[in-house]
Amino acid sequence: MSSIQYEIQRINASLPEGVSLVAVSKFHPEEAIKQAYEAGQRVFGESHVQEMQRKHERLPEDIEWHFIGHLQTNKVKYIAPYVSLIHAVDTPRLLAEISKQGQKCRRRIPCLLQLHVAREDTKFGFTPDEAEDFLQKGDWRQMQGAELCGIMCMASLTDDEEQIAHEFDEAHRFFLHARDTYFSDQPSFCQCSWGMSDDYPIALRHGATLVRIGSKIFGQRQY
Ligand SMILES: *Cc1c(COP(=O)(O)O)cnc(C)c1O
Repeated sequence: MSSIQYEIQRINASLPEGVSLVAVSKFHPEEAIKQAYEAGQRVFGESHVQEMQRKHERLPEDIEWHFIGHLQTNKVKYIAPYVSLIHAVDTPRLLAEISKQGQKCRRRIPCLLQLHVAREDTKFGFTPDEAEDFLQKGDWRQMQGAELCGIMCMASLTDDEEQIAHEFDEAHRFFLHARDTYFSDQPSFCQCSWGMSDDYPIALRHGATLVRIGSKIFGQRQY
């Protein structure tokens, strides 16, 4: 068994019920994904459109491709036919474009709203106030080609575990509030995407249902 397969099995075995692993394969070759696939992994995360396109075309059809990075509006059309979940919807305009492209493919594309909870101001996402305004306005209810299924966030890049826990907690509280206020008739609003290689154990204690783990499985990113 390769180290990739060992890590995939070890991490999956350690996740509590109701939590799924998104294996983040960005910048890793198809061979690495095949190894993870052979260990049973089916959900993979990518953050560049061209790279995901190429891998989607060449790798097994039953892989679920999650787009986890910042998505440019003009590139939505390329991934709309097959993407399983878009994690980082960071503007109303992006959600509108996803809906438009989803309708063209006659599908409702599952999406998460990216919440900005980190201290860094370089990260994308809605502040909790912006997200609240957006949900309250309600335009999203008319978007037939996109379906909001939960919240995504990234914590600050820090060793301060209390700070990270605080940020995940803030995202989780927002999720619970949004679910009860705006999605009480929509059980598919149920996903909390947070936690990466270094902070996923904290994420698991603070409501995560999807953890996005890359380097811990695949090692340092290549090319
Ligand atoms: C790269 C990436 C990850 C995975 O990061 P690791 O530290 O390698 O686990 C998770 N989420 C997003 C949005 C990423 O871009």
